[in-house]
Amino acid sequence: AKRLFTFMRGAADRTADPAEALGLKGSNLALLASLDLPVPPGFTISTSAWREAESAEGLPAALRNEVLAAIEWLEGVTGRTLDGAQKPLLLAVRASARSVMPGLADTVLDLGLNSRTVELLARELGDVGFAFRAYRRFIESYCSLIHAVDSVDFEELAETERARAGWQGDEPHSLVDWRALIAAYLRFIEDEVGSPMPQTPLEQLYQVIEASFASWRGPVARAFRLAHGIAENAGVAITVHSMIFNERGEKSGTGRALSRDLKTGRPRLTGEFVFGNRDGAGPAGVTEPLNLERVEAEPDLFPADPAALTEYVRRIEAHMGDATEVDFMVGDGELFFLQSRIARRNVAEAIRVAVEMVREGQIAEEDALLRIEPSSLDQLLHPTIERGEEVLVVAKGMPASPGAASGEIVFSSERAIAVAAEGRKTILVRNETLPEDVHGMHVTEGVLTVRGGTTSHAAVVARGIGKPCVTGASAIRINQEAGTVTAMGRTLRAGDQITIDGTSGEVILGSPKLKRPSLTGDFATLMAFADRARRMEVRTNAETPAEARAARAFGAEGIGLCRTEHMFFEGERISMMREMILASDEAGRRAALERLLPIQRSDFVELFEIMAGMPVTIRLLDPPLHEFLPKGEQEIAETAVMLSMSPAVVAERIEALHEFNPMLGHRGCRLAISHPEIVEMQARAIFEAAIEAGERKGKAVVPEIMVPLVGLRRELDFVKARVERIADLVKQERGKSVDYLVGTMIELPRAIVRADTIAEVADFFSFGTNDLTQTVYGISRDDAANFLSNYERQGIIERDPFQSLDIEGVGELIAMGVEKARRTRPDISLGVCGEQGGDPNSIAFFERTGLDYVSCSPYRVPIARLAAAQAAI
Ligand code: PEP
Ligand code: MG
Repeated sequence: AKRLFTFMRGAADRTADPAEALGLKGSNLALLASLDLPVPPGFTISTSAWREAESAEGLPAALRNEVLAAIEWLEGVTGRTLDGAQKPLLLAVRASARSVMPGLADTVLDLGLNSRTVELLARELGDVGFAFRAYRRFIESYCSLIHAVDSVDFEELAETERARAGWQGDEPHSLVDWRALIAAYLRFIEDEVGSPMPQTPLEQLYQVIEASFASWRGPVARAFRLAHGIAENAGVAITVHSMIFNERGEKSGTGRALSRDLKTGRPRLTGEFVFGNRDGAGPAGVTEPLNLERVEAEPDLFPADPAALTEYVRRIEAHMGDATEVDFMVGDGELFFLQSRIARRNVAEAIRVAVEMVREGQIAEEDALLRIEPSSLDQLLHPTIERGEEVLVVAKGMPASPGAASGEIVFSSERAIAVAAEGRKTILVRNETLPEDVHGMHVTEGVLTVRGGTTSHAAVVARGIGKPCVTGASAIRINQEAGTVTAMGRTLRAGDQITIDGTSGEVILGSPKLKRPSLTGDFATLMAFADRARRMEVRTNAETPAEARAARAFGAEGIGLCRTEHMFFEGERISMMREMILASDEAGRRAALERLLPIQRSDFVELFEIMAGMPVTIRLLDPPLHEFLPKGEQEIAETAVMLSMSPAVVAERIEALHEFNPMLGHRGCRLAISHPEIVEMQARAIFEAAIEAGERKGKAVVPEIMVPLVGLRRELDFVKARVERIADLVKQERGKSVDYLVGTMIELPRAIVRADTIAEVADFFSFGTNDLTQTVYGISRDDAANFLSNYERQGIIERDPFQSLDIEGVGELIAMGVEKARRTRPDISLGVCGEQGGDPNSIAFFERTGLDYVSCSPYRVPIARLAAAQAAI
């Protein structure tokens, strides 16, 4: 494969997959060159040359020779020579991979300067300061890359030199003092490293290339690849180009321009230009960066041709078909482009630009939809701290993952899991997070770390899973032993409430009011595009009125899963539930159920009203009964008092209901078959509520009654018969019939295998991918986190199958179930309501498989709408 690709304005060596072969920087410079934009000439060493060098000792001779030839070409093009007797050629050496990757070698600038050529340059330009400043910077970056010498050492050295020679400020003012400073640098390096710094630029270039290659294997880059699923052998490319003297004189500087105004999404040259001479001052004595928007009205402020800049930026945007951001330099009035990219923007800006470009007729709605990463919408869906609230900020860190979250302080993932299991919210506070913290990060509301930046482990993982995160809050101190954290002189304990704002980086005492996001304007427009493009319906998993309302605001088209058991945990409901479970006979159970009925009915009326005629799928009671029972002596005693039972009897009943594998035990339809009176109460509540809600709103409700954990057709027959009987009874009593559906969850392998016969009696199927994953894998969903994160680390699985569907395993079974179900009943309605129903990757599979709808938690509804649209395009 070709090792080396040259580029200059109007001409660049071509390759089939430029980003892959030349890295971001190299491929981009090649692109700009081919668009006939002014770029500094140079060449890129390809990733295949990196692969070749990986298996060799040192830099392969063939590569050295090609580099040498390219340098000669560059000397011809620029009229300068590397280490020559005339004008010295100065080079920038920049490593890049196919995508942005932290941990790769920093750019080395001004390679080509040595103690001889620096004098040539100073003479050529008549500017000693400029030449020596460049040389000094080169030495520092070279030594940092090759020998890991800390810049602080050089600062100390300069300090000493300043004191000795008596100059003021950051640098010497005379040739003599500059020479002395450089000599001190070189002596220091020789002492530090044990040998003098090589003075041959070509040799230095080889070393920089080698070190840049090696940076691919550095720990930061490797961790990043692991976190982002980037192949280990993708490799790094190295771009070498001639330097632009952008830091000299009044007509020089560095800028970043955008083709659009991200505040409006409309085309307009925006961005900034920083004058590059020593004190950053421009011609009019401006020391501030120049806002490029001003250039429109005052073109003279800009040291190069502003019309050309505008036209070039527009040309790049036309080529990219999206808002573009460019890095450019001006050297003595001459404009050069160094890099362009799709303009970096937050999600809100991305949506604005995409919607605006559709309005302008530049792109189609489908293009706009494909440009927004569905999971990134998460950032817009998170709560923010209510403005105007008085909050006490106790620390500030980096805004590492957006959104605000409150919870009690926990110091370990274990604790986060334990507290979450008790139904309380946490903020995980750590010095830094490690891979084994991932399972804790999944259950916590937000993550706060003392160390680390926006690409630290905590930040990367938190963004990936959409949790607010603040990193590098260095002003706080954790005392693990005491279980305390101090910030601004306050000591907080585990269990105390704090709030983090991952958008601002603030850490706030207590739990201020959080505001739900607004979903209007461009966001709504994009969602309207999505709704036009998608085929699948998007419903929500919701039980409470608050959830149902939130889901509707997010655009849910019905409830795909109402887990009725969640309605029984609060307040007096739980005691009625306990009374029912602890009753010694059916009569006792029925009496307790009688009292639960009106509560359940009014819950359903509310849900039906909120969903206003949309489908509402209500699942019959699913979990094993002992989940509702008291735990621990005290709770047992309290329950006994409340139910006028003896604690011993309560304890005995609890013991009798104990199961070794509750998830595979007496739950789902098995419970309904043991206790049909529960089904009867729930069915009655549903029908009566449907009549009531219909009467109030004048809109008929068609409830969908869903039977959980069916494996046998006869299980469904049994439960369905009970439901039908109640429907008849209610009809007789009320003189009104209710249209309703009875369907089942498909969450057991046997149900898949027998989907054709089960479909004979089911109006709909909803794939319960949580239990289905659990039963297909034989992995307990509640215990999986302990080892699945290790599986991910070891590369045994790519993703947690409980979050993103295992397409080739569980997915294969779903496809089989779909096929069998449709064979029996072509018009059967098919959906999914497991966790994976809100995961974009899984949604793409559900689209391919032909499901009718997905159902997910309210906050994921917009994500699912967009993902379903993308999948359908
Ligand atoms: C499922 O199993 O996928 C499901 C949605 O039900 P639950 O999570 O309540 O078991
Ligand atoms: Mg289930």
